[in-house]
Amino acid sequence: MSIEHSEIAFEKAQQLIPGGVNSPVRAFKSVGGIPRFIARGEGGYLVDIDDNRYVDYVQSWGPLIFGHRDESIEKAVIEAVKHGLSFGAPTEAESELAELIISIYDSIEKIRFVSSGTEAVMSAIRLARGFTGRDDIVKFTGCYHGHSDALLVQAGSGAVTFGTPSSPGVPADFTKHTLLAEYNNIDSVRQCFKDSPGIACVIIEPIAGNMGLVPATKDFLAELRAVCNEYGALLIFDEVMSGFRACLHGAESITGTKPDLVTLGKVIGGGMPVGAFGGRRDIMAHLSPEGGVYQAGTLSGNPVAMAAGLASINKLKTNGRVFGVLEERAKRLMNGFAEAAQKNNIGLQTDVRGSMFGFFFCDTQIGNFAEALKSDTERFAKFHAAMLDAGFYFACSQFETGFICTATTDAMIEETIAAANKIFGEL
Ligand SMILES: *Cc1c(COP(=O)(O)O)cnc(C)c1O
Repeated sequence: MSIEHSEIAFEKAQQLIPGGVNSPVRAFKSVGGIPRFIARGEGGYLVDIDDNRYVDYVQSWGPLIFGHRDESIEKAVIEAVKHGLSFGAPTEAESELAELIISIYDSIEKIRFVSSGTEAVMSAIRLARGFTGRDDIVKFTGCYHGHSDALLVQAGSGAVTFGTPSSPGVPADFTKHTLLAEYNNIDSVRQCFKDSPGIACVIIEPIAGNMGLVPATKDFLAELRAVCNEYGALLIFDEVMSGFRACLHGAESITGTKPDLVTLGKVIGGGMPVGAFGGRRDIMAHLSPEGGVYQAGTLSGNPVAMAAGLASINKLKTNGRVFGVLEERAKRLMNGFAEAAQKNNIGLQTDVRGSMFGFFFCDTQIGNFAEALKSDTERFAKFHAAMLDAGFYFACSQFETGFICTATTDAMIEETIAAANKIFGEL
């Protein structure tokens, strides 16, 4: 496979943009190699500027559940563009998308749109603090909630500690209100509540996708709900990734635990920049201009982005079987990987939730970040490079989630399993 044009483009980009990319994970740092520069997408495929075609299991890191250039989404966007790109004034499309999401998510009674997942989470946390009048928050090691200061807190060493920032430029003062707990470990959450004078909220990815795919157990989420109730803290489900990816009605519908606030992003924009946070009406009433908690955005609820979101979510809602079909395909892929790994004596842990799939090069089951870190990342890097070379585009880190879209056919999955089988034999 020639990647000459990508090499030249990456060289140029590195002169102009730090690391040559506008979001660090795109630079392939954890697996090595040259990131492919993309010319276009076609359904379930990506095509790079050297005209190589790849089966795309990244799908823009989640948003493209209908694949690239879905006809109805493309049409909706083009229609919206003809009316103007942005007004900074309300449009009916915002209420339409709000109504649609509220009709699907039990726990969302009111919602506000922003332009990214980071903004959604940052705003939900501010709202939780404003509502409860408390400063501290609890997050889980290995969960990612965007790049805002207070949430960029690194994994502790297993012990529950007040967070230290994981990036230069984040003052320790800004993260001292962020407490860390261990995923799927309720005692670590209880410890946080004992350590803190006042916790506003606990934020969790109920189906974690940013340490690889690691779902929370039903029991753990139920206990988390009970602890939050006991202390009067809010429970926030960060479903920026899992929302409209794992299932239609949100993690609450599979786990039975209801959050107070939910953050969304990725799929709800259908490939355009959209985030949202919503939840209980009495909490949302604290948001400006109804209440005092300030939150704003020049391009929030952008009409073109709303059109893409509406087309996507409408299509998911009216096509009720879609998640079953996607999950079946994702399972076929992961079962194929598991079988191939076993045949080649390679330890592999796999999991699936709807259109999300994950695999770890590891001998034992994974329930938290510390366990995920035991995976063989060197083996992953080799697997990633070989698969890429064979025309299969997987996320460039062991700690990311893979995605199936409606344009990922059974034939593409069989080809992927065959390629993986061959590559496992060479690892
Ligand atoms: C992607 C993601 C975010 C951040 O969203 P951006 O749109 O990248 O800012 C937040 N939370 C979770 C769970 C995510 O997966």
